[in-house]
Amino acid sequence: MLTLAKLQYIVDLIVAKSPSQNKDELARLNHYVWVTLMILPLAMGLGIYNSLKHEFIIAGGITFFSFYLLVTLLLIQKTNKTYFLYHTANLILVSLLVYTIYADTEQSRILWAYCYPLGIIFLLGNRIGFFWSCLFLAMIIGLFLFVPKIHTMYQIPFQVRFCISYLMVTTISSWIEYHRSRFQKESTQTHEALCFEQILLKEEIDRRKVLEKELQYLAQTDPLTKLYNRGHFLKEAERELHRALRYDKSICFAILDIDHFKQINDTFGHPAGDAVLQAIASYFQHSLRDTDIVGRLGGEEFAFLLLHITQEQAKAKLEALCHELSAFPVTLPNGETLSFTVSIGFAMSGPEIKRFDELYIQADEKLYLAKDAGRNCVR
Ligand code: GH3
Ligand code: MG
Ligand code: MG
Repeated sequence: MLTLAKLQYIVDLIVAKSPSQNKDELARLNHYVWVTLMILPLAMGLGIYNSLKHEFIIAGGITFFSFYLLVTLLLIQKTNKTYFLYHTANLILVSLLVYTIYADTEQSRILWAYCYPLGIIFLLGNRIGFFWSCLFLAMIIGLFLFVPKIHTMYQIPFQVRFCISYLMVTTISSWIEYHRSRFQKESTQTHEALCFEQILLKEEIDRRKVLEKELQYLAQTDPLTKLYNRGHFLKEAERELHRALRYDKSICFAILDIDHFKQINDTFGHPAGDAVLQAIASYFQHSLRDTDIVGRLGGEEFAFLLLHITQEQAKAKLEALCHELSAFPVTLPNGETLSFTVSIGFAMSGPEIKRFDELYIQADEKLYLAKDAGRNCVR
């Protein structure tokens, strides 16, 4: 069954093809298509009825009008100037109605006049629709007054009652259209305000996402070296240890401590010490594998996690690192260069190591051994 919802769907399909972008114009177009779809079957039926009754002028007029409506449904997709189509349809309809009343042989066709204000106000809006409704009434009054045939066909009380009832229909149609357009305007404004709010909300969400990322970065990063800070490194280390245990892989944990760093600070100043820490950090970032994890434990102590590596490979790699760093000159902010050495202690994971603390203690003890062995070495 053709429900209102289905009819609205068809109307929307036709309106969607219009090139117009204007919301008011599209709303008006929606009304036009509605009225047209309602009138078309009626007009076709009346055309057939009148031709059967040999009222060929009216039948021809209605057929022409139906044909025009069909053509406008196609033209809607091509033109922005839909107002031209509505007004032409209106002129044809008014002419047809006036002629129908004029040529009435049944004394009842005048009743079609009541449909006019309902349709035209719905179609052209309150102002123009009301104007045309009154103009149409004026034409009918003209027929009552100046066409003797019509004047005698309808008695004066009928004419007066017709005019009053027609005006009532016009006024009520006008009132309904006024409220419809007002509510539509309000709902459009509300919709636009909501869209605006939505945009603001989206911007706020995006801003907070960026802030959250920044906050997360700050919470995980050492501000001086931009490496993982102690807390985040230990968290990652704990996770990697468990993963290694689960997949039966071995990882190496190493602590690197700069030798006599206090002397560097004392001799060259704290900014120079900071420059050394930063230079080492950037060196790590370039020399380690992407999968290796490095962080600053605090002070001049750094930590590494070398994944999926054997003890021999780890020792060779750390010794190479120790050696490279001893030959790594750091350029200070004042242009001077200084060199330094580091000591490294490391420990390998194994099935017996269940918690990262155990690995940490072992590597720390090894670091002491390296210091005791005269520094600049790996233990
Ligand atoms: P060792 O060879 O035994 O490790 O001696 P060390 O001097 O390196 O060790 P010590 O623990 O005696 O001194 C570490 C120094 O590191 C002391 C501290 O002022 C300095 N330090 C800690 N954090 C920073 C920092 O962020 N910047 C600078 N410039 N110095 C720092
Ligand atoms: Mg230290
Ligand atoms: Mg030190």
